[in-house]
Amino acid sequence: MKKNQLIFLSILFFTIHQISYAQEFSKRVSDFIVIQDSILVIKNVTVIDGTGGPIKYNQDILLRNNEISAVGNTGEIFLPENVKTIDATGKTVIPGLIMLHEHLFYGKPFDGHYQGRHMTNTFPQMYLAGGVTTMRTAGSLEANADLNIKNIIDQGGMVGPTMDVSTPHVERLGFIPQLQSLYGDESIENWLDYWFDKGITSVKVYNNITKEDLSQIIKISHARNIKVTGHLCSITYREAAEFGIDNLEHSFMASTDFVADKPENKCVYGEPSLAELDDNDPKLIELMQFLINKDVTLTYTPTVFEPFTNREVVIGGGSVALAPYLLEQMQTFYNQQINTKRDSLNLISFKKEMKRILKFHSLGGKVTVGTDPTGTGKTLAGYANQRLIELLIETGFSIEEAIKLATLNGAEYLGIETKTGTIEVGKEADLVLLNGDLSKDVSNIRNMELVFKNGVGFDSKKIFDSVKGKVGLY
Ligand SMILES: [Zn+2]
Repeated sequence: MKKNQLIFLSILFFTIHQISYAQEFSKRVSDFIVIQDSILVIKNVTVIDGTGGPIKYNQDILLRNNEISAVGNTGEIFLPENVKTIDATGKTVIPGLIMLHEHLFYGKPFDGHYQGRHMTNTFPQMYLAGGVTTMRTAGSLEANADLNIKNIIDQGGMVGPTMDVSTPHVERLGFIPQLQSLYGDESIENWLDYWFDKGITSVKVYNNITKEDLSQIIKISHARNIKVTGHLCSITYREAAEFGIDNLEHSFMASTDFVADKPENKCVYGEPSLAELDDNDPKLIELMQFLINKDVTLTYTPTVFEPFTNREVVIGGGSVALAPYLLEQMQTFYNQQINTKRDSLNLISFKKEMKRILKFHSLGGKVTVGTDPTGTGKTLAGYANQRLIELLIETGFSIEEAIKLATLNGAEYLGIETKTGTIEVGKEADLVLLNGDLSKDVSNIRNMELVFKNGVGFDSKKIFDSVKGKVGLY
């Protein structure tokens, strides 16, 4: 065989291999796939498209080769003959959710002390079932497991969203023994390079780092085009913004900027200072303006701060997913918490934060959202992502804006907004089809039927059913 023939054949083989590879799924995945057609039309559906623009009724969406190929009034777009059709009358379509404070571990406290357990098998699937087609982990206890999961999902071997995997929480010694702490003079550069070389694409810093640490972390990460986010405490928001941090977690809930005489580089309890702070305090508005000028994005995570009284034991209807003995513990904890002074104080800060994030957003601040399935154990992957949409409405956002925060804004932060994040022609077919009119009743977010990831339609309920009683164990 001649040399060019060989090259030609190997290119051909490579191309075919690539195409078939991308479309192959293991049985573990294909069991949950209900739609895998190259051309499909979703007919007569209500569309909330993720741009923040007005809701459109009676729309047809044509999907072709994993892309959104046309969107328009029912009957007005060109449809190929005998195209497979889903009659979506009475249903709503939104873009696949893009959430930025996710974890693959679950908080399982022991005698009140924090402990996380990696939910290798349940959480990735639950995120997808809950409508999440792209997620960023914001810190990890087992970063290598997270990376492997990302790669196995990409190869079609596991059910789950596309993942932006972050470093382990970068932390000096704090209160969580499982975090991968930095000690003494160990090289931050070596530490970060190790993870970047493996394929990590985001950095998460935590409560007890120093200003010197943060300044180095940001420089090293930005030199490799990697963004840095933080759940801060030892460092104020203003200090972090001055160093060039990209993103702050838990919106203003982790700010120690208003603690009087805060010692430098020391984590102090900031809650009382935030509870006292007036929503319109000029110092707060000035900080908001400073963060906006420095182009810092805030991730709003109300799902991990939701109080107990008059609310669900496990948010978003997630109690069915918990292992029975953990549900029992959770119920006991819930009974102890409801109607307590502590819980009424939590409600006050929860409501205050809603006003702060609305204000920051109205001033032009960049806001993304995420669930943070840690805390007391009532926040579970998938169920919490759905609950988050309800909480955005409780916060005071319109449904159009809520969906934008949970889709396009996340895509823009991750730099993937030309590929996904809205329902627009030419974008990847990442969509959620849900039963009911979401604009009339936001709790319809819990009625997800199909979650399309890159044109492949997964059965949300079947995935959720498959993990019943397993969270906390697997
Ligand atoms: Zn977190």
